[in-house]
Amino acid sequence: MNTALIPPYTPSSLEADWQKTWFDNNVFEAHVNPEKQPFYVLEMLPYPSGQLHMGHVRNYTLGDVLARFKRAQGFNVMHPMGWDSFGLPAENAAIKRGIHPGTWTLENIAEMKAVMKKFGWSYDWSKEVTTCLPSYYGHQQALFLDFFAKGLVYKKEALVNWDPIDQTVLANEQVVDGKGWRSGAPVERKLLSQWFLKITHYADALLDDLTTLPGWPDRVKTMQVNWIGKSQGMKFDFTVQDEAGAALDPLTVFSTRPDTLYGATFCAVAPEHPLAKKAAETSPEIAAFIAEASRMGTAQEIIDRAEKKGALTPYVAIHPLTGDKLPIFVANFVLMTYGTGAIMAVPAHDERDHAFATKYNLPITPVVSLPEGHDITAAPYTGDGEVVNSPLFNGKQVDEAIATAIAKAEAEGWGEGQTQYRLRDWGVGRQRYWGCPIPFIHCPDCGVVPVPRDQLPVKLPEDCAFDGAGNPLDKHPTWKHVDCPSCGAKAERETDTMDTFMDSSWYFLRYLCPEADEPLDKTAMDYWMKGGVNQYIGGIEHAVLHLLYSRFFVKALRDMGKLPCGEPFAALLCQGMLIGNSYQKADGTYVYPSQVVWKDGKAFEKDTGEALTVLAAEKISKSKNNGDSPDELLARYGADTLRLFMLFTAPPERDLEWSEQAIDGAWRFLGRVWTLAHKVAAADALQSAPNEALNRKIHQTILRVTKDIERFHYNTMVAACMELMNDLNRAAEEGLSDTVKFGAETLVRLLNPAVPHITEHLWQVLGHTDPLYAAPWPVADEAAAQEDEITLVVQVNGKVRGKLVVPADISAEDALAMAKALDEVQPWIEGKALKKELYVPGRLVTLAVA
Ligand SMILES: [Zn+2]
Repeated sequence: MNTALIPPYTPSSLEADWQKTWFDNNVFEAHVNPEKQPFYVLEMLPYPSGQLHMGHVRNYTLGDVLARFKRAQGFNVMHPMGWDSFGLPAENAAIKRGIHPGTWTLENIAEMKAVMKKFGWSYDWSKEVTTCLPSYYGHQQALFLDFFAKGLVYKKEALVNWDPIDQTVLANEQVVDGKGWRSGAPVERKLLSQWFLKITHYADALLDDLTTLPGWPDRVKTMQVNWIGKSQGMKFDFTVQDEAGAALDPLTVFSTRPDTLYGATFCAVAPEHPLAKKAAETSPEIAAFIAEASRMGTAQEIIDRAEKKGALTPYVAIHPLTGDKLPIFVANFVLMTYGTGAIMAVPAHDERDHAFATKYNLPITPVVSLPEGHDITAAPYTGDGEVVNSPLFNGKQVDEAIATAIAKAEAEGWGEGQTQYRLRDWGVGRQRYWGCPIPFIHCPDCGVVPVPRDQLPVKLPEDCAFDGAGNPLDKHPTWKHVDCPSCGAKAERETDTMDTFMDSSWYFLRYLCPEADEPLDKTAMDYWMKGGVNQYIGGIEHAVLHLLYSRFFVKALRDMGKLPCGEPFAALLCQGMLIGNSYQKADGTYVYPSQVVWKDGKAFEKDTGEALTVLAAEKISKSKNNGDSPDELLARYGADTLRLFMLFTAPPERDLEWSEQAIDGAWRFLGRVWTLAHKVAAADALQSAPNEALNRKIHQTILRVTKDIERFHYNTMVAACMELMNDLNRAAEEGLSDTVKFGAETLVRLLNPAVPHITEHLWQVLGHTDPLYAAPWPVADEAAAQEDEITLVVQVNGKVRGKLVVPADISAEDALAMAKALDEVQPWIEGKALKKELYVPGRLVTLAVA
């Protein structure tokens, strides 16, 4: 066939047609079917900012390849999508532009969904979940009441960041340089009654069950281990005296290093500690220091970074072993919410204590033997070693000294061994409008009363004023005023809404029963969640919060009899980032990569010819313009080319560097597949002489691609298809044959999960009337895939000494005999005693001689 007669590849119309066919025929709709094995593929749901970015495109394409592959393999595949649609940006848009958060959010969802549909991802949109709709959050309120009934929800006083101008609580990330991000007012730490979920009840289970997750990346598991932060140590009391020598309440501290007890040279308490408050009563300096420290807010990172400062109290702590009097400071680096809010400071062996002791000229006493040449006045020593300067522990190793200290304290009654966790209970209340209302009512007589279930959902009122000051729910004229469901007295609704991480802790369960009257339908849970979500895909930035909260939710729901599994996600893939060079003009603005032309290794703006500064690759972001928008790229290349580029350019876990050349490469490859399929289809007659080598290559490619998809080696999967394409083209030049046609058909089938639109089309071009989405995954003929001959490497004492070409089915005996007879091998074994000989089938022969 004259290639001039081949129709041009025009993805836009072809892709739209196939998307319509798939969705008109509900091809991706999944239902409980006990006859078929379920497979649940899940990608993290997006926040509907209104902008789909290429990071999303990569995430969803990775999932789609697996979903389509598993479907072709005969699994009943669940592949849903939804919207994590509560949160602050919508409320900010309301304040800034006077548009209702709900309107803003739903418009964004519509916009993003329209673009998403153009990528042909095989989502079952009938399962779509939108977390800001009462049809979702009403069930979340029901679950919240279930958690409450199980004792997993409680209210207590906690420190929060308080914006005194806006009269609202701020999240840690809303505190910028100690000031409220909106008002600019210095933030204060304040004790407020807050809602908590008792995640610490599951601290040990969350830690121990990580070992049951071999399908998770080690680095994510390590981050969770550190976040939970289980440590063994000792909780003990210092006797405290005031300046007159009178005894005050003892000071309780926790230490993971009681072996360093003799190295303690001072104690420190948090600004909110009762002892600090007592000192402030008589000392204006201490009161002023506490006020200053409270302006740091509650974010651990900020406190860690800040200069260590303190104020000396008039009290002393009596060392339980030596009887020495240690000074007590109020210090800005001690947190009331961690441990007991007080510490014993061992400056010789702790970074923070060392910095503080240096600043205030306090003694630094080493009690672990220092490495040769270590200057303890310059830096602490935090490593292991033998205990010194400690009458009770001298000569012992750290572990042994810890055990001795605990035994002594327990025997004398001033302390005890204790396990401590870094993990805190989860504060879930937010003083904001755009979130799920917490379903409780405050009655002056009955206290906190749950909203009766038949009154759920507690819906957000539509008519709120968004002026940015305080919580709109609290200021609404009528919404919070209700009668107590228990006694009928005048009462008030809770005006806090839930942290949006609550919404994302169970969305993957609601996908399975989006229409159910109960939050979770038992039949659906038992079928789809037996072993959890089979494959979860998303960013590493969610390694702790979202992935830990979801694990907690699933464990709690399992213990309530609502779920068959104790872990939400059996396997987790964290995809790498998308990075790209950015191109900057002289005025500091950025130019999109598509607007850049290169001349003699220098970059210029296409339209103006202005020379551009090329900045090193970094994460693709809107502010840097360093990646073109998905919409614009779709119009230029079509979905299949972009999908292929994402899959081929880097392995999924690695960062993917933006490259127009690589996108062009993907486009050209699809063009070659297009041309070959059309040539084969148009041939008048095909030669029937068998081509064994090509046939073997085809079956080998089926094996490779199948294996590669299963282990997420998508880039080598595409590479295998490209290799086969080359072989097919070479064979086609010698004449179109049945084998070439079989090869072209197989190539189209293997590429289908990656580039579903063009392959559906070419499958029809090749004469098939049934759609490819209904076709099973190709199965290799293992015998045909066998090589006739293989090359074996021969090693003597670990060094390669020769190579051997042998029949593929050679026996071990023959392989060893032929290896020993090789001319190149002979000199190395001649006259020596053979200690070991081994044939590794298909690969090598190893010989060991004395
Ligand atoms: Zn009441």
